[in-house]
Amino acid sequence: MKPQIKTEAKISKTDVVCVLLATLSTILLVTALIPPKAQESEPTLYILHTPLVPAVIRVKELARLTEDENGIDNTWALWLINAYNPLPYGYIPQLSTIGKSDLDGRVAEYAILMIMAARNDGLILSPVSAYRSVERQAENFENSFNNERYLGRSAEDAFYYTIARIAAPYTSEHNAGLAIDFNIAEETFDATAEFRWLRDNAHKFGFIMRYPEATSDITGIIYEPWHYRFVGLYHAERIYNWGITLEEYIGYSAEDDSVFNEFKEQYIA
Ligand SMILES: [Zn+2]
Repeated sequence: MKPQIKTEAKISKTDVVCVLLATLSTILLVTALIPPKAQESEPTLYILHTPLVPAVIRVKELARLTEDENGIDNTWALWLINAYNPLPYGYIPQLSTIGKSDLDGRVAEYAILMIMAARNDGLILSPVSAYRSVERQAENFENSFNNERYLGRSAEDAFYYTIARIAAPYTSEHNAGLAIDFNIAEETFDATAEFRWLRDNAHKFGFIMRYPEATSDITGIIYEPWHYRFVGLYHAERIYNWGITLEEYIGYSAEDDSVFNEFKEQYIA
């Protein structure tokens, strides 16, 4: 009798292990070839070409989330940043990009909703400056100071003139990405419909006019109708209703002026 010849391939356990190992090494190789994922610190891009949407509905959703005084958008958003309260050295927020500006990522959605709501009312709110690095801040300060000196002011005059308009590095809300300058950074902005809209509606989106008229003795900054600061929905509404500044709202008084004085001494002998 002829021995039966088996033609079917016999798969041994060793073969299975080999195939598995080969597959695994291929997966590892492919994984290694895939470029690493973008780092978390890279800005999230928000495209602002969204068609007009019922922004009011979204805002109501946000409002429900933030009724709690210590709600998620409230505690960190009350961060006081002024001449006497600098940001920690090296602080850089996690940024999101809206249009051509960067913002603290936690603020971006509120800003977008506000801009869309204004657009629904036929108005264009255009952020001209939002997040600004401390290096850029230092450069702006230096340029303004030198310009005032060139125009004939004493070092002291030039310093105080500049500090009321351009905060020292680390002491600007722009360095934290929590503020937006809209449309035109000039006092004439307050004659526009966009200004009136912001004045009457910004708090519904968690923003306040940070440097109202005749408050520079409290805030240290001149009247800036274009500068809006995020403080969260809950506190924005209260600050708006009470008509006060952030300094007054959190009961702040300038006691520690050591950092400010140190900065001042770089300019005034
Ligand atoms: Zn500003």
